Amino acid sequence: MASFRLHPNTQYEGVPPALAGTADSRFWLARTLRRWFDTSAAVTIDESREDRIDWLRAAPFIVMHLACIGVIWVGVSPIALIVAATLYAVRMFALTAFYHRYFSHRTFQTSRVVQFGFALIGASCVQRGPLWWAAHHRHHHRVTDTPDDPHSPRVHGFLWSHVGWFLTPRNFRTDLARVPDLAKFPELRWLDRFDIAIPVLLAMALYGLGTLLQHVAPQLGTTGGQLLTWGFFVSTIVLFHATVTINSLAHRFGKRRFDTKDDSRNNVWLALLTFGEGWHNNHHFFPGSSRQGFRWWEVDLTWYGLKLMSALGLVHGLKAVPAWVLARSRS
Ligand SMILES: [Zn+2]
Ligand SMILES: [Zn+2]
Repeated sequence: MASFRLHPNTQYEGVPPALAGTADSRFWLARTLRRWFDTSAAVTIDESREDRIDWLRAAPFIVMHLACIGVIWVGVSPIALIVAATLYAVRMFALTAFYHRYFSHRTFQTSRVVQFGFALIGASCVQRGPLWWAAHHRHHHRVTDTPDDPHSPRVHGFLWSHVGWFLTPRNFRTDLARVPDLAKFPELRWLDRFDIAIPVLLAMALYGLGTLLQHVAPQLGTTGGQLLTWGFFVSTIVLFHATVTINSLAHRFGKRRFDTKDDSRNNVWLALLTFGEGWHNNHHFFPGSSRQGFRWWEVDLTWYGLKLMSALGLVHGLKAVPAWVLARSRS
């Protein structure tokens, strides 16, 4: 028989049978919906279903995909494409440079203001808060491609590693024990708790901007609905799938320069798409470097961006690739 328990910062996938048809079941639904906005809301958990997809929690993720079809009705304009591409680029940089190379791996230092600024941009990507992202990513490095790895294509299959794993109750939680260095900042904990707030603000701002432009610059041919659809839904969904190719494709397709125990690969196409993250075999061999393209010809846009930020004094202490790592390289 399944066991249930109240657990802070976690969730339950369906109405527990013990509550079905009672007043408590309505209470359960209210709490479950509250979790869309406040990830710390405590709900009953069924331990036997921790590794299955929570479809109620996944509903907004599915709706965001469907909303992309809205381009049929809202049409397109150069300004809509520029906004979508710019938001892709800025947010990809925030994910790779900060969520990954800073929050997860601490490969450079920065001020608290810059840290929070890029945490905000990262939070607008609808990939949860920085604590959740870093906690799961650190765990991935510790147990890569073993049964404990939440998103290993070797163990769980391609589709699960790409879009399944983060929709389960087990992976909904943020294990603060994995990120004590980040959890000490209340502003980061707030972003993690209310992780839907920044995406909603971005969506509203895009709708407002499109509506404003429709009236003050009608020659641009845009509307609120158009900027919302292209700038938020399309840009965010493309950004999402590009990001998670590193969990799925970069553990399947590409070359292995280093003989790591995992299946990580170096893949130039993924490196271009994700601003340098596709040099994933390099990264798994030596995650302590701010740079992931180890050779001059391994394009790593995030590294170039970080060099620029360093020159401007916004970040410092960028970690280079040590000579012993290059000496172990097969190419
Ligand atoms: Zn990996
Ligand atoms: Zn990493």
